[in-house]
Amino acid sequence: SAAGGRGPGPAQRLAVLSGPSGVGKSTVVREIRARHPEVWLSVSVTTRPPRPGETDGVEYRFTDDAGFDSMIARGELLEWARFAGNRYGTPRAPVEERLRSGQPVLLEIDLQGARQVRETMPEALQVFLAPPSWDELVRRLTGRGTEPPEVIQRRLDTAGVELTAEKEFDATLVNTSVDEVRERLLALLGLDGG
Ligand code: 5GP
Repeated sequence: SAAGGRGPGPAQRLAVLSGPSGVGKSTVVREIRARHPEVWLSVSVTTRPPRPGETDGVEYRFTDDAGFDSMIARGELLEWARFAGNRYGTPRAPVEERLRSGQPVLLEIDLQGARQVRETMPEALQVFLAPPSWDELVRRLTGRGTEPPEVIQRRLDTAGVELTAEKEFDATLVNTSVDEVRERLLALLGLDGG
């Protein structure tokens, strides 16, 4: 299997979903959130302002620099990274709580965060979400319509570098269709689709 014999258990308990900005990670995560309540999705904390339609505590916990600093200082983050001028991090306690209770946990984080988790939680299954093509990634990032051109350019520059990270991962899913990616990810987690 793509999980490559990582542990004897039937279900992969902790999985990281990473990949370039704009590749569609949050769409996959939204689908899983809506249809597979048995998978627990970590809610990250960020200093980025909410986009239209985002709700505090759902897509992210939105905070300011001081709030983020104090979470770092208290050791409350499992990992964190700077991305396109903002900071993003995974609150530690809820993840550990869910893992203790045996629930599958999914982290949707950037490449730097994925590297930190690879160090601190090597048992995690690391999944890379790849765009069908570079042109498609440019189209998605440009077409989002929620960010100013300089932010889009910054994200595209980052994405070019991020695409080379694929080889660090246990498995790659190409985002041709969200349904397919969702089902394959669930299979990697050892869960049924549906
Ligand atoms: P966005 O601003 O588009 O929501 O997210 C920007 C990038 O930050 C995406 O690649 C997303 O996966 C990543 N990200 C979201 N939450 C976290 C987190 O908790 N930690 C890390 N390291 N990256 C995150």
